Amino acid sequence: MDYSFTKKQEELREKTAAFVAREIPREVARKVDETGEFPHELMRKLADEGFWKINVPTKYGGDGGNVIDLMIFFQEISRALPVLSWTAGDVLLYGNNILKVNGNEEQREKYLPGLMKGDLLFCFALTEPDAGSDAANIAMSAKQRGGEYLLNGNKMFISGASVANIAVTNTRTGPDRYNGITSFLVDTSSEGYSATPIKKLGYKGSDTCEVVYKDVRVEEQDILGGTECLNKGWQQMMRLLNGERLVLSACANGISEAVLAETISYVKKRKKSGSPGIKFQAIEHKIAEMAAQLEAARQLSFYSAWLMAEGKECVRETSMCKVFCAETGKQIAHGGMEITGAYGYDMESDIQRFFRDIPILAIGGGTSQIQKNVIAKTLGL
Ligand SMILES: Cc1cc2nc3c(=O)[nH]c(=O)nc-3n(C[C@H](O)[C@H](O)[C@H](O)COP(=O)(O)OP(=O)(O)OC[C@H]3O[C@@H](n4cnc5c(N)ncnc54)[C@H](O)[C@@H]3O)c2cc1C
Repeated sequence: MDYSFTKKQEELREKTAAFVAREIPREVARKVDETGEFPHELMRKLADEGFWKINVPTKYGGDGGNVIDLMIFFQEISRALPVLSWTAGDVLLYGNNILKVNGNEEQREKYLPGLMKGDLLFCFALTEPDAGSDAANIAMSAKQRGGEYLLNGNKMFISGASVANIAVTNTRTGPDRYNGITSFLVDTSSEGYSATPIKKLGYKGSDTCEVVYKDVRVEEQDILGGTECLNKGWQQMMRLLNGERLVLSACANGISEAVLAETISYVKKRKKSGSPGIKFQAIEHKIAEMAAQLEAARQLSFYSAWLMAEGKECVRETSMCKVFCAETGKQIAHGGMEITGAYGYDMESDIQRFFRDIPILAIGGGTSQIQKNVIAKTLGL
């Protein structure tokens, strides 16, 4: 088994790291967090540097990358500005990947060029007030009227919903819990679509919204994958799960790397200045534990990604990976806060930002408890 990076992947890592060093100095990251505004300028720069081609098949003019390429990108970005990886998901995951995995030829040709150029943003609307972890409980209705559908209902916590051009909207089109869900590509400029941003603890700038659909009209050819995919929305979502879990694990690892680096730098400075408290071996042991946990998380991530890239069965591993990386990230952020004391708590510090950002990775894309349910099921429980 060899899951070392290819030359092309190493180049991608270096290119992303160089982008981060040049375009996301601390002040820029802090400003995005403080204003809570969607980082349009950074998204434009990422588009101009060709990052939106990473996972588009070469046939459509992309770089043809797989899940490992995506993880490399998301991990590097998360080290500096986690929310930018979340907004990058509006192109790379909700746009490119959804079209690649579930779209039909017509939809790929229609949208992929605009996504790659940075002219289009997508969002993914699944969660509802009464359907979070229990996603199959969605109630948003889509009623057929001739060659079109009328969408009515509410979605909650939809990232990018007020800036996206297309909302991939999951609706109830039949009584069967799993075989009665249809996904539509909804133009957000349609009459009756409105999105209101929600204030939240972290990932500020990701434009997480409550969305109302009131008689929103959609053509039947806007069913994701075409009309033959009516009532196939659940199966389409299942095909995205492994990749999503891995990418979110990479985001958690990026945050953990940043916290660890900040913590080590703080401790070294305190040591130099001769502060007695920081000489305690207990602190060094705590940091050693954080480093070991992070290394285990990284190895599990790239091993699971290797399984997926090789087309091997990996549901258990991707769920293990998601829960392990997210929970490890929370522990590392907590450890960083503990060790840096009041400095980490200060709003001028980056530790407090990472501390506020990390919890979402144990919620979005299936909570830690849901991942444990999946793991238990694969163990025959
Ligand atoms: C910042 C942010 C961005 C988001 N972006 C999007 C987005 O773009 N698109 C989208 O569709 N959604 C999005 N979400 C919603 C997210 O996917 C849901 O929050 C998540 O699925 C959990 O649902 P819930 O919050 O309703 O919690 P609930 O499902 O109500 O769960 C509450 C608690 O109960 C536990 N629990 C629930 N069921 C079980 C069970 N069967 N066994 C054990 N424990 C269980 C959960 O693990 C959790 O701890 C976002 C959320 C946030 C906070």
